[in-house]
Amino acid sequence: MDYSNETKCLHAGYHPGNGEPRQIPIYQSTTWVYESSEEMGMLFDLEKSGYFYTRLQNPTNDFVAAKLTEMEGGVAGMLTSSGQAANFFALFNICEAGDHFIASSSIYGGTYNLFGTTMKKMGIEVTFIDQNISEEEMDSYFRPNTKALFGETITNPTVNVLDFEKFARVAHKHGVPFIVDNTFATPINCQPIKYGADIVTHSTTKYMDGHGIHVGGAIIDSGNFDWMAHKDKYPGLCAPDESYHGIVYAERFGKGAYITKATTQLMRDLGSIQAPQNAFYLNAGLESLGARMARHCSNAKAVAEFLKTRPEVEWVNYSDLEDDASHELQQKYLKKGSCGVLAFGLKGGREAAIKFMDSLKFVTIVTHVADAKTCLLHPASHTHRQMSEEQLREAGVNPDLIRLSVGLEDPEDILNDLKQALEQL
Ligand code: PLP
Repeated sequence: MDYSNETKCLHAGYHPGNGEPRQIPIYQSTTWVYESSEEMGMLFDLEKSGYFYTRLQNPTNDFVAAKLTEMEGGVAGMLTSSGQAANFFALFNICEAGDHFIASSSIYGGTYNLFGTTMKKMGIEVTFIDQNISEEEMDSYFRPNTKALFGETITNPTVNVLDFEKFARVAHKHGVPFIVDNTFATPINCQPIKYGADIVTHSTTKYMDGHGIHVGGAIIDSGNFDWMAHKDKYPGLCAPDESYHGIVYAERFGKGAYITKATTQLMRDLGSIQAPQNAFYLNAGLESLGARMARHCSNAKAVAEFLKTRPEVEWVNYSDLEDDASHELQQKYLKKGSCGVLAFGLKGGREAAIKFMDSLKFVTIVTHVADAKTCLLHPASHTHRQMSEEQLREAGVNPDLIRLSVGLEDPEDILNDLKQALEQL
C-alpha cells in the first residue's frame, strides 16, 4: 500500500519487529565486531553488506535516509554532515578536475560560493545561468565536458520556483543528470523526481529538522539516470575504481551505483557523515513535517497578504500570491503550497530594512530559515555579504531584499509584531 508523505514522514524507513524499540535507536558506536578476519575482508571488498565503521555508514543514519528516500520516491539515499556536504558530494561524485557543470545563479549564497570558488580551486568549473532563459540559450552553455545541471526547487533567498520540466528536458538532451536542492519545499510539498530530477539534495538543517537543532544534509538518487549509456562521461561510475579493487560501480550496483560510490569512496575519503545523534534529532523533526509544512504555508500566506496591503512595502515575493511571477510554476509543481519563506523590500531601501529589523520584538534576526520560530535576515548584509554587487544582481538579490521565514506561532502575533515595526518607519 502506498501511503502519502504525511504518513511516510512518521512511518517509513524503520519497521520495528516484535519487542523492538518503537523509536529509531541511536547506534553510538564507531565500530562493529566480527568474529572472523575473512568476514571483515568481505565487508571491505563490498562482497558482503554490513556495518564496520561509522565514517562510512551507521544504522541510525541508514534508517533515516531510507525514510527520506521513500518520501522523495528514490531508490537509495544517504545522510551527510551538512547541506553543503550534500551538494558538494552530489556533484563531486560525478565531476573531477577538468569537468564542468551548469547551475542556476539563483541559489543559496553558500552553494554559490562552494561551486564558484572552492570547486573551481579543484579544477571543476561552473557556469551560472539565469534560470528563466530559453531552452535554446541553455543549450548554448553545454560543453563536451559538462557533467550535470543544478537548481533549487524554491530559490534561496529570492523564493522563485524552478521550471523542472524545462531543466530536465535540457539536461537529458545533453546526457547529464539533473540535480535539485529540494530544501525549501521538502518532499511534503514537492517531489522533484516526479518531474524529471535524477538526484535530490537537502539541507536537513531546515524544515526537516524544523527546530534549529542540528546541521545535516541528505542525497537521494532516483536510480533513473543511465550512467552506462554515457560511460565515457562518467568514468568514476563506469570504469574500474582502483581504490576499491577494480569495482565498476554501475555494473556491480545498478540503480544503487551512485549512492554506493558516494558512500564507499567519498565518505571513506572525505568523512562528512552525519552524527547518529543528529540523525535521531532529524527523525524526531521529520515525524511532524507534514503538519508543520501546512502551518508554515498558511502562516506565510497570511503574512504575504498582509505585507501587500502596507504602504511601507515596495514589493513582496511569495509564489502562493496569485500575481506572483512564480505562481503558475507553483500551481504546477507545488500544489500543496510552497514553504514558509518569503521575500520583500521596503520603500526606504537598505536603511529602512535595517530600522525595521531592529524594531521587531519576538521576530528575530538569525542566520537561519525554515524552523519553528519566525525569523528574518537581510542577505546583502548577512548570508550573501561575500558577494559583489554584480554577483548579487546575477543571483537576483536586491540590496533591499528581506528574507522572512514565517514560523509556527499564532499568525495574529506575527502580523502584530511586523505591524508595530513597520509603524516605526
Ligand atoms: N541549500 C539550501 C537551499 C540552503 O538554504 C542551505 C543553507 O541555508 C544549504 C543548502 C546549506 O545547508 P547547511 O547549512 O545545512 O550546510
